[in-house]
Amino acid sequence: MTDGSAQAVVRIQGLTKTFPQGNVTALQDIDLELAPGEFISLIGPSGCGKSTLLRVIGDLIEPTVGEVTVNGKPARGARNDGDYGIVFQDAVLFDWRTVAKNIALPLEMLGWERARRRERVEEMLDLVELSAFADHHPWQLSGGMQQRVSIARALAFEPALLLMDEPFGALDEMTRERLNLELLSIWEKLGSTVVFVTHSISEAVFLSSRVVVMSPRPGRIAGTVEIDLPYPRAAETRDAPRFFELVTRVRELLRSRGEHLLPEEEAALE
Ligand code: ADP
Ligand code: MG
Repeated sequence: MTDGSAQAVVRIQGLTKTFPQGNVTALQDIDLELAPGEFISLIGPSGCGKSTLLRVIGDLIEPTVGEVTVNGKPARGARNDGDYGIVFQDAVLFDWRTVAKNIALPLEMLGWERARRRERVEEMLDLVELSAFADHHPWQLSGGMQQRVSIARALAFEPALLLMDEPFGALDEMTRERLNLELLSIWEKLGSTVVFVTHSISEAVFLSSRVVVMSPRPGRIAGTVEIDLPYPRAAETRDAPRFFELVTRVRELLRSRGEHLLPEEEAALE
């Protein structure tokens, strides 16, 4: 962690978020700082405020109390400057646009010229291995392919910060593991900072340089675990004794703050 210098990509100070509907306090007293190039996972039981935290960072909703800065500016300014890309749980592609045009959309919004757009879209299609599908429409693709399109779209303008909300949650195990590896190689190539929401302990440990464990509602930070497994990570990383130790440590942190978990919530965290 940085010491409050201007280095932080994201700085969250004293964040509390209350939704007036039902008077739900989704987040309470969150302090968190992200250094450039970190890969952070937010993990916690369903309803603990992971998506809410991501949305506050992405300026999709406002804090009730506290401050969020991205690249040293208010989240709103960072959004207007196109400082980050967002990938949601569902791909959220536009069905009437081709794959290439979906990826080009943020570039159009940022005012990139046609030739530069085309070049970048080709690079991104290559990166997610979908070059042959540039002219297809989203509904012609599998769920995993759609998710890769949405990742390509979020990465196309090389955002310094990538916000991902359970992007692989709906995919089968094998696709998920493959996309985990793809995401890591893209991240290593671009050197961006990632905030990744998941409820899978093993996914969080596999991907991250740091795992932030959240407690059940109202969401607070129960603790963080530095993941000292070397990069680049590979399928074998999951067999390393250290991997199991770190998984256990995250699980213990979840349990220690998770007295209120329902059995099915606990099961969902495995
Ligand atoms: P998670 O992503 O960890 O499952 P969420 O951030 O989606 O959790 O939700 C945290 C809590 O805030 C939940 O109790 C949820 O019902 C509530 N919540 C989220 N969004 C809203 C909203 N727009 N209005 C009212 N309550 C909300
Ligand atoms: Mg969520």
